[in-house]
Amino acid sequence: MSNHCERLGLLPVAEALQTLLEAARPVMEAESIKLAESRGRVLAEAVLSGVDVPPLDNSAMDGYAVASGDLAAGKVQLPISQRIAAGQVGQLLEPGTAARIFTGAPMPPGADAVVMQEDTETDGNSVRIRTTVIPGMNVRNRGQDIAKGAVVLPAGRRLRPQDMGLLASVGIAKVKVWRQMKVAVISTGDELVEPGQQAGPGQIFNSNRYTLLGMLASLGMEVVDFGIIEDTPEATERALLQAAQEADCIISSGGVSVGEEDHVKNTVTRLGRLELWKLAIKPGKPLAFGYVGETPFMGLPGNPAAVFVTFAVLARPFLLKAQGASEWLAKTWRLKAGFDYHNRGARQEYLRCRLVSDGAGEWTIDIYPNQSSGVLASASWGDGFAIVPPRQQVKPGDLLEFLSYHELGL
Ligand code: AMP
Ligand code: MG
Repeated sequence: MSNHCERLGLLPVAEALQTLLEAARPVMEAESIKLAESRGRVLAEAVLSGVDVPPLDNSAMDGYAVASGDLAAGKVQLPISQRIAAGQVGQLLEPGTAARIFTGAPMPPGADAVVMQEDTETDGNSVRIRTTVIPGMNVRNRGQDIAKGAVVLPAGRRLRPQDMGLLASVGIAKVKVWRQMKVAVISTGDELVEPGQQAGPGQIFNSNRYTLLGMLASLGMEVVDFGIIEDTPEATERALLQAAQEADCIISSGGVSVGEEDHVKNTVTRLGRLELWKLAIKPGKPLAFGYVGETPFMGLPGNPAAVFVTFAVLARPFLLKAQGASEWLAKTWRLKAGFDYHNRGARQEYLRCRLVSDGAGEWTIDIYPNQSSGVLASASWGDGFAIVPPRQQVKPGDLLEFLSYHELGL
């Protein structure tokens, strides 16, 4: 891999992302867990169905199972010969009769259609059919949802609630998933105190730690939390070495810029190697990627909004790929800007925005007024990022790429 740090200028986001994704090595250790605890976990192997769903042809309605041929002959009044509730199995349908049947109950052999209750009249012993009966009507065929032997879900699927339900529907009780990635979180900065402590003069609360803990939780990953690390080469080295021992990946915030108090970059270079530094992204220029020993390391900037953006845009896909997921890029939509903006710089901007409805189903992007990288309220205010490429001028009505927080799981 070429060492991008030796390049002049800033690395474009797409190139940085490509480098990160090439570097992402999947965990490759699987474990079997209970289906009920599988939300957000990544399937280590494809799941095949051992059964047909539904297992038998069954009724889609509360009503009467009939043989359509009987009604084609002009008959409309049929004696009721049996009653089949869900969970029961009926008898062969006597010719010229109807079976009272309920939603989900198996079709009796000999019947090929169900007349919904609303299209009938009954005295309890016989039923009068008031509609045209078509073969197959209101019948759910065996295996129409999932056929026996079919792939229910592919390897690499990050399990969502509907996936859990689908696995349950084929009788799966345990799933083989990749073990959770362990991600070390390091908050650097002598100015930081934890919420709940007293902030003295010149001190600020450690917000990045919480943003990162939340983001990692939403990815279903385990956190090894190092708390606040002081701005010295010794403390930084100690934390990084321990993190490299205990975690699959290290994420730090702060200390990657060019000041004398920024020790992270130099320490990583000393303990391993640096692959990337300084990206054409705003907010978030000073982003470092490298290795401490063999453990991947991502040094996010210190500014809280930059942490939010760089994690979402760069760390998230890297981590998802390393977690074994088959999809790691969030989808974007093209939506109309409702504002004027000029990106005069060489960096791609991720503007914190919200969507505003015109009440008729059209959505317009509205921008948070203060896009400073230190203003975390910008991220909390809205619904996603509007992406503005370098040197692009935006006028109201222009289409912009919009990356929704929901799509990012945030
Ligand atoms: P740095 O890159 O370490 O110089 O940090 C850049 C800016 O982000 C400074 O204003 C820091 O005080 C601020 N910052 C760094 N880490 C955190 C954190 N964990 N929580 C809140 N602000 C931070
Ligand atoms: Mg700092």
